[in-house]
Amino acid sequence: LPVVSLRGVTKRYGNGTLAVRGLDLDIAAGGFVSLLGPSGCGKSTVLRMVAGLSPVTAGTIDWPRATHDARGTPRPKLGFVFQEPTLMPWQTAIDNVALPLRLEGVAKAERHRRARKMLALVGLSDFAESYPRELSGGMKMRVSIARALVTEPEMLLLDEPFAALDEITRFRLNNDLLRLWEARRFTAVFVTHSVFESVYLSERVIVMAAGPGRLHSDLSIEAPVQ
Ligand code: ADP
Ligand code: ADP
Repeated sequence: LPVVSLRGVTKRYGNGTLAVRGLDLDIAAGGFVSLLGPSGCGKSTVLRMVAGLSPVTAGTIDWPRATHDARGTPRPKLGFVFQEPTLMPWQTAIDNVALPLRLEGVAKAERHRRARKMLALVGLSDFAESYPRELSGGMKMRVSIARALVTEPEMLLLDEPFAALDEITRFRLNNDLLRLWEARRFTAVFVTHSVFESVYLSERVIVMAAGPGRLHSDLSIEAPVQ
């Protein structure tokens, strides 16, 4: 069974903009999928609808493998990484990473243990007590990735996460992300307009046509670069 299944998904915003039109898509559990397409084709909209941050206008998004949680939403635990790191400026790196655990009610000692482990995985052990303003762009992005993964989500949704970074940092972060994915095997859905990035990272590249978003092509690649 796919982890998520979109059928005839259409999105029309309140101002009349048709952003996505009749999208059918299944995403397999544990895969690394890129959503590639020109700016404005509806990639972010698709990701936000999958995340439940934006309602669909028509069609359905199903999670065939998920069990119902207390609120009856059959959606597994998700992590979200945006282009802007959106870290809390008055909190240290480790407290930023631990924040989702605080929202889950995890006890303080356990929060810190898990946040410290995630910071180590993204290579920032020495910067646990640094504030976001003391970190480079690449380091802030690593903190965001650590924060998104600290709750051990089944799916990680990334919306143009590295677009604002210089090319070398971006390349390093691509490799770091692949390493994390190989270690943890969450389902990754990566939105990008970079052909290189999508092919380098993914097992499957879903190409969207210029808007309003529809499928253009769907490429399966044997394995990601190791
Ligand atoms: P992409 O991520 O591929 O750049 P988006 O999903 O951001 O595309 O946008 C798709 C279309 O929807 C664009 O025409 C964009 O201007 C429009 N759009 C995105 N967000 C909103 C919004 N909140 N309200 C109205 N229109 C929007
Ligand atoms: P970027 O991701 O911006 O290229 P890196 O995360 O690769 O930066 O950092 C490269 C190295 O530079 C880090 O390992 C770190 O030791 C050092 N560094 C970067 N920014 C800072 C900073 N603000 N304070 C101290 N050291 C830094």
